[in-house]
Amino acid sequence: MYAGRVVEGGDSESVTQRPAHPYTQLLIDSAPDPDRPAAEEKDGGTGEPPSLIDPPPGCRFHPRCPHAMAICSQEVPPRFDVGDGHFAACWLYGEQR
Ligand code: SF4
Repeated sequence: MYAGRVVEGGDSESVTQRPAHPYTQLLIDSAPDPDRPAAEEKDGGTGEPPSLIDPPPGCRFHPRCPHAMAICSQEVPPRFDVGDGHFAACWLYGEQR
């Protein structure tokens, strides 16, 4: 969930092993991993979570997303099936990209 919207769902193994949404990928990359050298630790991404009083239009993650496209700031992405009952609310999986 990001800024009040469900952005990805599926069984836990699928979501954690094959995250499809850029926000889920950021969360997983930011988690401490004792097997990963400190030099490879990610910094948790850039930017701040949005205001829930006046959230960004379209995809609420677009101001922080490294993959943002024009449509991302204009239209709310629907849930796209990414396989095996796993979905991502992200235009990367739409035909409009
Ligand atoms: S819809 Fe666009 S801004 Fe939102 S996560 Fe997907 S690529 Fe990034």
